[in-house]
Amino acid sequence: MAIVDEDLERLRATLVLSDVVQQYVALRRVGRTWVGLCPFHAERTASFNVRDETGRYKCFGCGAAGDAFKFVQEIEHLDFVAAVESLAAKNNVQLRYTTGEAGDRQRQKRRQLVDAMGKAVEWYHQRLLDSPDAREARDYLRKRGLAGDVARAFKLGWAPDDWDAMSKHLGVAPEMLRDTGLAFNNKSGRMQDSFRARVLFPIYTENGDPVALGGRVLPGSADPAKYKNSSETPIYAKSKTLYGLNWAKGDIVTADQVIVCEGYTDVIGFHRAGVKRAVATCGTALTEDHVRLLKRYATQVVLAFDADAAGQGAAQRFYEWEERYQVRVSVARFPDGKDPGDLSLSDPDALRQAVEQALPFLGFRVNHALNSRKLRSPEDRAQVAGLAMAVVNEHPNREVRKLYAAQVAAHVGIPPNDLVALADRGVKSPTVRIAPVRRVGAAENAEFVAVAMLIQRWDDIAPWLMEELFVDEVARRAFLAVAESAGSIEVALELADPEAREFLERAAVTDVDADPVLEARNLIAAATRRRLAASVHTTDPDALHALRDARLALESIEQTDAGDAGAETLLGWLKGASEGRE
Ligand SMILES: [Zn+2]
Repeated sequence: MAIVDEDLERLRATLVLSDVVQQYVALRRVGRTWVGLCPFHAERTASFNVRDETGRYKCFGCGAAGDAFKFVQEIEHLDFVAAVESLAAKNNVQLRYTTGEAGDRQRQKRRQLVDAMGKAVEWYHQRLLDSPDAREARDYLRKRGLAGDVARAFKLGWAPDDWDAMSKHLGVAPEMLRDTGLAFNNKSGRMQDSFRARVLFPIYTENGDPVALGGRVLPGSADPAKYKNSSETPIYAKSKTLYGLNWAKGDIVTADQVIVCEGYTDVIGFHRAGVKRAVATCGTALTEDHVRLLKRYATQVVLAFDADAAGQGAAQRFYEWEERYQVRVSVARFPDGKDPGDLSLSDPDALRQAVEQALPFLGFRVNHALNSRKLRSPEDRAQVAGLAMAVVNEHPNREVRKLYAAQVAAHVGIPPNDLVALADRGVKSPTVRIAPVRRVGAAENAEFVAVAMLIQRWDDIAPWLMEELFVDEVARRAFLAVAESAGSIEVALELADPEAREFLERAAVTDVDADPVLEARNLIAAATRRRLAASVHTTDPDALHALRDARLALESIEQTDAGDAGAETLLGWLKGASEGRE
């Protein structure tokens, strides 16, 4: 089957090559030429040229060249006829065909395979709905909210626990069963069903042709392979197929967003929760072919699985795709490690919310690094900053890196300049050193040292500090911010006003080499002396009695090693005094 020449030329005349290319590649105009990043090889500077006058493109990097038909063929991995058909459909050009070619036979064969798969899907589906041997499967599906209307909508099936029930009853020629992957020739030369004792999820092309099956065992099965998918066949390529796209594509276009899940039941869960734009990969990672396919429908891709588990290699691929296909990849996070399938039953609102609050892929990874450990010491902060900057610097765009560097700096509480410089250079394994901003001797500002210690050695000093010990107004507010955040510098920086925040940023990165208890006692002693000095004119006998006790306690903490009791007494007295009970 070939396309009539006249129609081919009519279509060619309708097409503007730059329009065709721009559905896949961002182009900018340079004189009479359009240029962009080549979609056929990885590059950072644009060497892909498109000329509308001649209708031809050429890449000066890899040599790719051709016309609109060739372009669509290459980028969509289609044969010539399919590429022409796709362009004709988009441009409302009717095509006529001549008959009797090799392509015709191929098309007919494909049709037959799809028909055979369709029959099998229907047979398995009826089996699930009606057959007594499918009761256990129906019970299982009902518990997971996948029975009844859901089972009908998604054509779920049941492969009986039998080695050739489908092959025997379907009424389809053995080679068709074999070529669709529905069955295979076993050792004794007979057709054996590929799926046995499994719940089946039929997989369709974006146009609704059934091409494959995914099968899941029931709980308690001895079969170690929980999921099993059809093998690759002339009608089924895993890396180019997305489960659910046939049902989801309308909503994907409307929302300009597609949700990519890991499992069939996750897709169905989203549908059940009213979010009808979810698809799943079929037992593979997300591939470039998948992204290219999705790009036709939407520009926002939300990953609904643990994208961090995919690791660094995956991250770099995602960034490349974001740039090459002009899509934005973000990540939805689900509470308590639940998968979307579970969540759609227990808390569909949470499912919808997770998608609405999806974080950009880089932001998701940076957050993960920032929360990898508590920031107790300068070493912690340096390490966390280093981890986060390594993640930031995976991103190819310098401006994006700098933006996130500032965010990392704010989180760990260091001045942003050093990190922004690291981001600017894109250092791959950055080491962040948190140099002491200044050294503080014991004689220098004791209040500053106390706050620095409170940040760095909370457990050691926190019990000995209180607001009344601070004379310096900024130090007092800084202390309150740390105290309220129970030692978390991130929270404290958020709570603090700008002055106190600046104070905290310095304190957090200062090397303090002192005994926290002694530092605290010095502050307590100083506060006590101030209070005593202010009380010289007191005549009230009770207050005089308390003053005497305070003087004795002050002597005890200044003169002995075991002054804890004295310090406690003084803290109590200072507290009471500040509340007006002198
Ligand atoms: Zn190229």
